[in-house]
Amino acid sequence: MPADDPCQAAGALLERAERVAVLTGAGISTESGIPDFRSPGGLWDRYDPSQLTFDRFCASEDTRRTYWEIATQSYPVMRDAEPNAAHRAVAAIERAGKLLKLVTQNVDGLHHRAGSTAPATIEIHGSAMRATCIDCGAEHDRASVHQRVLDGQAVPSCDHCGGRLKPATVSFGQAMPERETAEAFAAAADCDLMIVIGSSLVVYPAAGVPEAAVRAGAPLVIVNREPTPLDAHAEVLVHGAAGESMSRIVQIAGIDAGTAADPAGPGDPPLSGAGSR
Ligand code: NAD
Ligand code: ZN
Repeated sequence: MPADDPCQAAGALLERAERVAVLTGAGISTESGIPDFRSPGGLWDRYDPSQLTFDRFCASEDTRRTYWEIATQSYPVMRDAEPNAAHRAVAAIERAGKLLKLVTQNVDGLHHRAGSTAPATIEIHGSAMRATCIDCGAEHDRASVHQRVLDGQAVPSCDHCGGRLKPATVSFGQAMPERETAEAFAAAADCDLMIVIGSSLVVYPAAGVPEAAVRAGAPLVIVNREPTPLDAHAEVLVHGAAGESMSRIVQIAGIDAGTAADPAGPGDPPLSGAGSR
């Protein structure tokens, strides 16, 4: 193993750390078969995201129809995906008692299915596993709403008030959830190690989380295939695939990656859902 092996350096930092904050992005789930935003041929090649802002969703029945059309294509991809080695490594950091908070930008539910617990996980962009009524706030199970769309209700409506249902994800132009965002920044300020996995770090305020950790004096590890705007602030940069890199990092830190629990069981029905961002 070369002396300048970045996984070795990251593993050594993780071994010493006691309060780790982890930020994950779409790149942690590409090895599970869910495309990130920067892959060619994705949904955004066919649809214009500037036409699908939250304001337009609220205002226009046509936009809601297009939105649900897209969401109904991406939901089964997430539902049928399996967590990969990187999700399992993050769950192992929690089981080892070292995790302060996992902040994920993903809406696919794969961290949960890899064994990360709800109290330790902040879904800063919401979850596609649920649908929410934007009129009365009622939460709906995504699986049944998805089925309704397949059955011909192109724009599904709320069971309680007949209002406008939307996947429970944060759309372009939609306010971030206040409590979750505050918790993410509090964890960044309080951690003794910040690890970013599979995020381009260009989407704010999520990208501000590792910035806050660096300001508070925590060392930053970035695991990403491509450079990010925060690379200059990282103590360790791992330019590699998330699954293999994170497996090595936890192993070097002496953490048992084990076979993490999948509470849903492989192939079980909808714990996950469609991306709307
Ligand atoms: P992003 O698409 O902007 O960036 C992903 C980054 O991960 C890229 O820099 C890419 O080089 C890197 N990457 C891709 N595969 C990798 C791998 N196997 N190993 C290491 N690095 C890899 O994603 P983002 O930063 O999360 O921001 C985009 C927004 O898209 C987020 O807000 C998120 O909510 C949403 N999104 C979520 C999902 C999901 O839930 N799985 C999927 C697509 C988009
Ligand atoms: Zn309602």
